[in-house]
Amino acid sequence: MNSIDTLPPLRDVIATHELSARKSLGQNFLLDLNLTAKIARQAGDLTGCDVLEIGPGPGGLTRGLLSEGARRVLAIEKDPRCLPALDEIAAAYPDRLKVIVGDALEIDPLAHLTAPIRVAANLPYNVGTELLVRWLTPPEWPPFWESLTLMFQREVAERIVATPGSKAYGRLALLAQWRAEPRIVMHLPPEAFTPPPKVSSAVVHLTALAEPRFPADPAILNRVVATAFNQRRKMLRSALKSMTPDIEDHLNAAGIKPTERAEQVSLEAFCALARTFKP
Ligand code: SAM
Repeated sequence: MNSIDTLPPLRDVIATHELSARKSLGQNFLLDLNLTAKIARQAGDLTGCDVLEIGPGPGGLTRGLLSEGARRVLAIEKDPRCLPALDEIAAAYPDRLKVIVGDALEIDPLAHLTAPIRVAANLPYNVGTELLVRWLTPPEWPPFWESLTLMFQREVAERIVATPGSKAYGRLALLAQWRAEPRIVMHLPPEAFTPPPKVSSAVVHLTALAEPRFPADPAILNRVVATAFNQRRKMLRSALKSMTPDIEDHLNAAGIKPTERAEQVSLEAFCALARTFKP
């Protein structure tokens, strides 16, 4: 039985407020409240935390986050049609849900949040990846968030947790693993969503580390990694040649064989390589 709260079932909410899913907004809704409560539990202990939710839609995950004890949820939703459904949830949880209608890529939510802050979202995949990269590259570390619990296309989730030597290993893995601990915590088949998307999905939970795993200047590390993976099939001595003519000396100083390819190089070695360049 779906009874995490006293609100109507989500199918009824969608019918009442005529929330037909729009493809242009990447709307694939989760209607099973047991499932959304389970996803909310993957976000960790929410008691005493503010939760930033992006793309609440009709509010399935929002209800899960509130019933699992979030102190407050700040939800940013682009589609104004969802507002009446979200208002009903706000009324059922007085003073615990604030909704902002707008584009999450353009809104700075920080003024509305108090630490500790966790982030949870089932978002369109393109928006999710863009926000993930922004959340992983703030001007200062540690970031505003303690954890991110995000739904991704399974293939993107695998890129986030990938290790050296695999096809999925690249910039996203290095970015996510340098200053956070990412884990795939759930797999969801297309049928879990209404309407079902074409591909499987996975929930990734990332915990922010207090310090980067290995020291490196963020801008240099980013440049080294981007340049190396831009030509991932080439040996590093030629893939990175554009950075400096004496790249072989830098690679040797970092303990990396100049004949290796980017996808074989560990995060620790990339950080060592970044440290051979002056900020
Ligand atoms: N969280 C709901 C659920 O699990 O059923 C809805 C998920 S649906 C995959 C994605 C939601 O993100 C939609 O409600 C869509 O309108 C919203 N959305 C799309 N782009 C957005 C953006 N740039 N900013 C905020 N919300 C956005």
